[in-house]
Amino acid sequence: MSKADFEVLILGAGSGGYACALRAAQLGLRVGLVEKDKLGGTCLHIGCIPTKALLHAAEVADAARDAEQFGVRATFEGIDMPGVNAYKDGVVARLFKGLSGLVASRGITVIEGTGRLSGPRQVTVGDTTYTGDALVLASGSYPRSLPGLEIDGERVMTSEQALRLDHVPASVIVLGGGVIGCEFASVWRSFGADVTIVEALPRLVAGEDEASSKALERAFRKRKIAFRLGTRFEGVTLTETGVALTVDGGDVIEAEVLLVAVGRGPSTDGLGFEEQGVAMERGFVLADERCHTNLEGVYAVGDIVPGLQLAHRGFQQGVFVAEEIAGLEPAPIDETSIPRVTYSSPEIASVGLDEVTAVRTYGAEEIQTVTYDLGGNGKSQILKTQGFVKLVRRVDGPVVGIHLVGDRVGELIGEAQLIYAWEAHAEDVAPLMHAHPTQNEALGEAHLALAGKPLHAHS
Ligand SMILES: Cc1cc2nc3c(=O)[nH]c(=O)nc-3n(C[C@H](O)[C@H](O)[C@H](O)COP(=O)(O)OP(=O)(O)OC[C@H]3O[C@@H](n4cnc5c(N)ncnc54)[C@H](O)[C@@H]3O)c2cc1C
Repeated sequence: MSKADFEVLILGAGSGGYACALRAAQLGLRVGLVEKDKLGGTCLHIGCIPTKALLHAAEVADAARDAEQFGVRATFEGIDMPGVNAYKDGVVARLFKGLSGLVASRGITVIEGTGRLSGPRQVTVGDTTYTGDALVLASGSYPRSLPGLEIDGERVMTSEQALRLDHVPASVIVLGGGVIGCEFASVWRSFGADVTIVEALPRLVAGEDEASSKALERAFRKRKIAFRLGTRFEGVTLTETGVALTVDGGDVIEAEVLLVAVGRGPSTDGLGFEEQGVAMERGFVLADERCHTNLEGVYAVGDIVPGLQLAHRGFQQGVFVAEEIAGLEPAPIDETSIPRVTYSSPEIASVGLDEVTAVRTYGAEEIQTVTYDLGGNGKSQILKTQGFVKLVRRVDGPVVGIHLVGDRVGELIGEAQLIYAWEAHAEDVAPLMHAHPTQNEALGEAHLALAGKPLHAHS
């Protein structure tokens, strides 16, 4: 029996921390989980879940507005924001209740309060110090701002306040055209706001394949979502009616509110990490492919570790660390196999390498791509959505990247991820049958084309 209070002590109960706790408890380990706010962290309370509920409400609004296209008589009378919020908060509350029950049923000790590293594998909460044979750092992230950009929470806000708005603003500037910025832009446009995205990089969702960015930009243009690319923030002033944003070159853009969506920083400040000798870089905790920090028995998972800030990456790392501590020697996580979805309308989904990275990695002559247009896919036509499936493969080798654009394509990423992670060749996927009519067929068709036998494609 160890002398420590817990065999696994975890700081932070977000996606990474609670997944680690559940798996460690399942493996019979004694687990302590320190949380200053609510079990579930950013993803459940102010991230993935509430934003996706808003995006679903946005889809319902679009369906009502566009009902006539489908021969259905309906009138769109507007957005009842308190009603939308009640729906969104109801989803979060149900999931929170479920998670709290699950954590309790596994015999995990939840320690409420703000924890601070106070020694090797030791966390102090208030007047009490807890020790662990292993310590897992999982304190997550916070919304970043820019120098000279003060968040007042009312007219200049982050995603946290945007999720609590009790009305639809008439006009919005979204500073940052990454995943979070594009998702909010999409919601607000569907809710009837005038939206302008300001992005410093030359394209929207710049982490995605260039073709996906271009398709989103085309779709947003059609939806009358304005965007200024390659445009830097210079300053913001509050006006009588809202905000005035100055960008480089001197142009001023006015709107009722400004959403700052310029990325998320690691929540590690003042938690005693540096004092205890944890190796860090720009506030992030450095961990190797087995999630070990430089300190013996101290692990790090989720958004505090450099890499994609996604809930499922945190979950997977949390599970990995629990198994590592239990001595199961799990296989390391392949970071390029992490599926990525932007849930705007249209959606973007991808796994593996974009074309440019694939060419850089393997050489241009080693890479082949195929793009299958959703115009040839029955279900996409029924939904009246446009987009594509783009495959990137090594010549005579496996598929190394899959890129999807179109409404609902996020649901296809599971199959895409299996293809990528199993290093399938187009010839392995081509014979597999897909139910008709589904959007999955587009994945099948793209692989048929790559295997040299396109069916529903013009050659
Ligand atoms: C608007 C938005 C939308 C998003 N949408 C998606 C999406 O659709 N899909 C997706 O995969 N990801 C999405 N994400 C990202 C996702 O939420 C994060 O990647 C994920 O929550 C990270 O998990 P984590 O465990 O590292 O950190 P967190 O979820 O941030 O959890 C950290 C926890 O630690 C606690 N904590 C911090 N410091 C202390 C302390 N000193 N003492 C005690 N407790 C502490 C915090 O209260 C928090 O509960 C979104 C994020 C945002 C902001």
